[in-house]
Amino acid sequence: MTGTRFRDFIGLLDKADILPNCTLIPPIPATDRDLMLAHSWEYLDTVERLRKDGGWLSIDTPVTDGAVEAQRLIAGSGLQAAKYILDRENSTAHTFGGFHHAGRNFGEGFCIFNDVAIAAKALVERHGLGRVMVLDTDAHQGNGTMDIFLDDPRILFISIHQDPRTIYPGKGFVWETGEGEGKGFTVNIPMPPLSGARNYTQAFDAIIEPVAREFAPEFVIRNGGSDPFYGDDLTMLGLDLDGLNMVSRRTRDLALGTAGCLLDMTVSGYGDWATYGWLAQLCGSEALETDYKAFCPKQPRRNPATSEESLARATNSMLESLRGELRPYWKL
Ligand SMILES: [Zn+2]
Repeated sequence: MTGTRFRDFIGLLDKADILPNCTLIPPIPATDRDLMLAHSWEYLDTVERLRKDGGWLSIDTPVTDGAVEAQRLIAGSGLQAAKYILDRENSTAHTFGGFHHAGRNFGEGFCIFNDVAIAAKALVERHGLGRVMVLDTDAHQGNGTMDIFLDDPRILFISIHQDPRTIYPGKGFVWETGEGEGKGFTVNIPMPPLSGARNYTQAFDAIIEPVAREFAPEFVIRNGGSDPFYGDDLTMLGLDLDGLNMVSRRTRDLALGTAGCLLDMTVSGYGDWATYGWLAQLCGSEALETDYKAFCPKQPRRNPATSEESLARATNSMLESLRGELRPYWKL
């Protein structure tokens, strides 16, 4: 990843007087053994060859020394954060992670190593947990994470994202519910373009909360990011800063109310608004009363292209189809 947004975000946390209350932990890079929790040996071998020779995993995913080094550090930080949480009661931790487009044997969408899946897999395989939930609220569906856990009933993967007919990676339809023993443990919620806080509330009420409560996770990882923001350069969803805050607040309440912990990963957000979205999100997932909007420029004007009523109807109709797909597995 390029640019200064990670540094800018730390500056923003300082300005908002949040940084003094944070414990910053220097990351340790993930080892090959760590990466193999989620990726095949053949894939890691391909990545290493491309790194040496110079090459691309996909049109948007160059394999450079810098990219590999950064994503090893991010995957390592996910493992450290998971361990940090396990060692403490009722705790939360954050990483600059969420590289959810890397699958077991593929990398794409800027993602080489899937830090979300590596952390989740470590929790079940190394720390002996039986039920881990990954809630992916990024605007893009987490196709790599879905690929890695498709047949794994120990990981409940819920992705709420922009309708895949309108955005990369073109996956995440209601009927994609897992395979084999993992049937029912993959849940995709494709939101109509321009969906805002009201529509996300519908999805939390109808699907995310009831399924999560029935699953009763022992650990919750949220793959967040601010690209569902309506001013984002790459997406077409409709959450404003308060909406991002609300989604994070509900995620926190759900995670602490079930598993008693939350590992929050944040990497997405494209354009001038990324870091402000991250701040609104962090204030939600940490239940901070900070007036985050006081540290942001005035939000851009919204384009009221679709009426609230028709969006609510489209969301309801999608949720009804999804309920139908999930009823064999969950009490909905
Ligand atoms: Zn995204």
